[in-house]
Amino acid sequence: MSVVSKDIKVNKISESRIDEVDMANIQFGKNYSDHMLVAYYENGAWQQPQIMPYNNLSLSPATTFMHYGQAIFEGIKAYKTADGEPIIFRPRDNWKRMNRSAERMAMPHITEEIFIDGLRELVNLDRNWIPTSEDTSLYIRPFMLAIDEFIGVRPAEKFMFIIITSPAGPYYNKPVSIYVQDQYVRAFPGGIGFTKAAGNYGMSMYPTMKIKEMGYDQILWTDGFEHKYVQEIGTMNVFFVIGDTVVTPPITEDTILAGVTRDSVITLLKEKGITVEERPITIGELQTASHEGRLKEAFGTGTAASIAPIYALTYHDDKMLLPPIETWDVANWLKQELADIRYGRKADTHNWMVTV
Ligand SMILES: *Cc1c(COP(=O)(O)O)cnc(C)c1O
Repeated sequence: MSVVSKDIKVNKISESRIDEVDMANIQFGKNYSDHMLVAYYENGAWQQPQIMPYNNLSLSPATTFMHYGQAIFEGIKAYKTADGEPIIFRPRDNWKRMNRSAERMAMPHITEEIFIDGLRELVNLDRNWIPTSEDTSLYIRPFMLAIDEFIGVRPAEKFMFIIITSPAGPYYNKPVSIYVQDQYVRAFPGGIGFTKAAGNYGMSMYPTMKIKEMGYDQILWTDGFEHKYVQEIGTMNVFFVIGDTVVTPPITEDTILAGVTRDSVITLLKEKGITVEERPITIGELQTASHEGRLKEAFGTGTAASIAPIYALTYHDDKMLLPPIETWDVANWLKQELADIRYGRKADTHNWMVTV
């Protein structure tokens, strides 16, 4: 059992709303748990965080982030083990990444006490909201907003850090069809592609809407100069199995988000003795591999979807079909391995799981 951190003020709900939720049929992002955590940054320091009933916010219409997008977020999942204990997957990696996003967006670092202890406390309090069936979890959304009441353009001085949680089912329930985008660009060197800034998502809505109208599910983004180096799919990192090698674009440039799932996948594959190459990949290389029958698997990785198999990749008039997903060795193994670690069925040899 956890000890309530003396640094977090807790104001509990009088009656849980959990009975309003159909836990057997949960959709992603529709329901929010009883409590949320809120902390304010003022006069150069984070103030005492509070856990309070989930509620609307009241903010001035002149609030900075509403106009200029000084806003960042994270995505994490908590699971329940067979004996009912909540465990959270790699939250410290998200905490570190949030601080890298914060730096680039001229926002303050969040302390480990507020981020990690805060989310452990929150998950502990709302542990009944963690669904237990396979492929379900409690999605945790920490985010930070610039909240000066000022519409002049300058980095804000006041910020708000919030954590909300939401019971979640599978994100994609079928394999996805991908459109290789060579007109719109997600990220370029010197930009904010490596951050989880709200604006990265805002800018992707229009191109994504356009390809959905054409019948595709997600975009494979390419680089901003030559439109030939692949970056990410939608809001996931991307992996390809070419022959016996797993390849993924490198995160050395600032155009690719360093996914926690991506890192976990690379770690697990290397431990299993599979060759993983983090290197630039062109669309031409994928076309050649596909035409020669060497493109065996393609999948996206991210917290929301875990492993999202791709059944087709379309580049101009070249529709590359992947072999039937049942025959894939790598993605199916990874999905199972990650699930076994996350639900506590397999020993956590990497210290990825954090108890509440
Ligand atoms: C969040 C995100 C990912 C996945 O990161 P995870 O830590 O694995 O959830 C990948 N790409 C983009 C652009 C993202 O925003």
